[in-house]
Amino acid sequence: MKRLATAAACGVVLSLCPSLVAQDARATFVVGTASAARGQRALGALNVPAGSDPATEIAVAVINGAKPGPALAIVSGLHGTEYASIIAVERLIDAVDPAQLAGTLILVPLANVGSFEQMVPHVNPVDNKSMNRFFPGRANGTQTERASYVMTREVVEKCDHLIDLHGGDLDESLRPYSYWTLTGNPKQDEASKAMVLAFGLDHIIIAADRPKDPAQSRYLENTASTRGKPSFAAEAGHAGTVETDDVNLLVNGSLNVMRHLKMLPGDAKPVGQPVWMEKIVNVTSERNGIFYPAVRRGTFVEKGMKIGHVTDYLGRTIDEARAPEAGIITFIRAVPSLKKGDTIANIGVVKKTAP
Ligand SMILES: [Zn+2]
Repeated sequence: MKRLATAAACGVVLSLCPSLVAQDARATFVVGTASAARGQRALGALNVPAGSDPATEIAVAVINGAKPGPALAIVSGLHGTEYASIIAVERLIDAVDPAQLAGTLILVPLANVGSFEQMVPHVNPVDNKSMNRFFPGRANGTQTERASYVMTREVVEKCDHLIDLHGGDLDESLRPYSYWTLTGNPKQDEASKAMVLAFGLDHIIIAADRPKDPAQSRYLENTASTRGKPSFAAEAGHAGTVETDDVNLLVNGSLNVMRHLKMLPGDAKPVGQPVWMEKIVNVTSERNGIFYPAVRRGTFVEKGMKIGHVTDYLGRTIDEARAPEAGIITFIRAVPSLKKGDTIANIGVVKKTAP
C-alpha cells in the first residue's frame, strides 16, 4: 500500500521520485555503444574485437519507450544477402515512435556485414561460416563465433523476446513462413506460439528438433528460447529481391508482435487458420550441373512429382529431382548453378491437425 501511495503521488514525473527511478532498471537501456534513456532512440554499434581474423562492427539501434515494458530484440542479416529482411528492420528504426512505445526495442538490421558487402550468400566470407549456426559463440573463436558471442551477451541476454528475420537467400526462391520452436516448456511454447500467430504469416513450420542445451544452441532464435525467452524466426523475400510485399509482411508482422506484447497501442489481429507444417524435407542434388525448376515456390506437390531436372553443360539431362514426400515447396533453387550436395528444394509436410 505504501508503494502504491508513493507511485500515485509521483505520477509520471519519474525524475522527481527517486524510489520509482530505482525500480525502473531500464530507465537507461544500453546495448553496445547505443545508450537510450526513456523516450529516446539511440544508434550505435556492437564492437567485435579482433582475434585470429579482423575485428568487425555490427550496427544497433535502441528505442527505449517512454513507458516501461518488455524488451524485444529484432535481428536480421545473419545471412547478409537476405535483403528484404535487412530493409525491413532498417525501416522499423524510424517506424516506431519512442513516445508511443512501452518497453524497449533492440534492432540489429545487418549482423553479417561481410556477407552483405561482398554479396556472399549463406556464410560470413571472413571465415566461411554461417552466422546462424555458431551460437552462443566463443570469445576466442573466428569472427563469426566472436560476433555470435557478442550478440549473445548484448542482444539475447538483454532482451525478453527475440525475432530473427530471414528471407530466401540469393539462390532461394522462398515463400514466406515463420518457425515455431518447441522447447518442451508448455507455458513458454504457448507464449511463442501467440507471438508467431500475431506476426501473421499464414504458413508456420513447427521446429521440434532444435537443440535444447543453451550451451549448444547453434541458432540465434534458439539461443533466446533455450534461455527461457519466448522467441521465433520468420522468413520473407527471395533471390536477392527487395519486393514491397515481402518487406511489408516483415515490418507489419513485427509491429503486430509489439501490439500483442502491449508495447504499442492497438490490436494485433492474429492469423486465424495458418497452414502448419510438421517437418521440412530437404532435397539435395546428387550431381554438378545446370538446374531447371519445374515448380514455383509455394506449390503443393504430391509424393513422386517432378520438381526439376539437371543437365550437363551441353544441355543433356543427367538427373531428375522428385518430391520424396507430399507437401509445400517452401523454397526452390532460384539459380541454374548447382553442385553436388546443394539444396534443390525444401518441402514442408503439412500437419493434418492444428497444434
Ligand atoms: Zn537466412
